[in-house]
Amino acid sequence: MQPAANNRATSSSATDLGSLAGEQDPLPTSNVKNFVDEARIERAVREILSAVGENPDREGLKETPARVARMYAEMFSGLHEDPRIHLQKFFTEQYDEVVLVRDISFNSMCEHHMLPFMGLAHIGYMPNGRVIGLSKLARVVEVVARRPQVQERMTETIANLLLEELEAKGVAVIIEATHTCMTIRGIRKPGSLCVTSAMKGIFRSNLSSRSEMMNLIYGGRRP
Ligand SMILES: [Zn+2]
Repeated sequence: MQPAANNRATSSSATDLGSLAGEQDPLPTSNVKNFVDEARIERAVREILSAVGENPDREGLKETPARVARMYAEMFSGLHEDPRIHLQKFFTEQYDEVVLVRDISFNSMCEHHMLPFMGLAHIGYMPNGRVIGLSKLARVVEVVARRPQVQERMTETIANLLLEELEAKGVAVIIEATHTCMTIRGIRKPGSLCVTSAMKGIFRSNLSSRSEMMNLIYGGRRP
């Protein structure tokens, strides 16, 4: 599990002055929970531009640090949200067949390279009296994706959240994604797809439940 985001923001600001020590802005007293230090990001982006040999003051780059800061605030907004809030409102329903939402698109940021990875999440569960609105599954994906991430942890985190909050009989999460850190740099393999899965409860222990789920997700398609 991710540590509570507001703790992280508060404690790291108190102790870690980072590479730009002394230039840190004071935390605002209100709304600390949603705080991303955009001014600090701006300074860091200026630094990067200078470091690669650019002139951060030239016309075309003037607004870039502020633009990047707003972008990061958006891309990492999930750090300051608890995905569990989307799973609190469930309905009591005696439905004991698979519920599946397929092809939930997402964008996330690889924490190793700070480059985006994007793709589709398929989420299925076998309810145990608790059913949630289908859009809530997409909300959970959104919150978990908008953090510095690795795909494996993202898959596991979503599965565990559903298992715990819905007390489901089983949860299956499959994520397929393209990582730009593999397609535009390094090994440069465009078209490569990374597939991860987390099978919990009945989808782990029972082979026929698992193959039913895989059939629902993929049908005739290949992953
Ligand atoms: Zn990467």
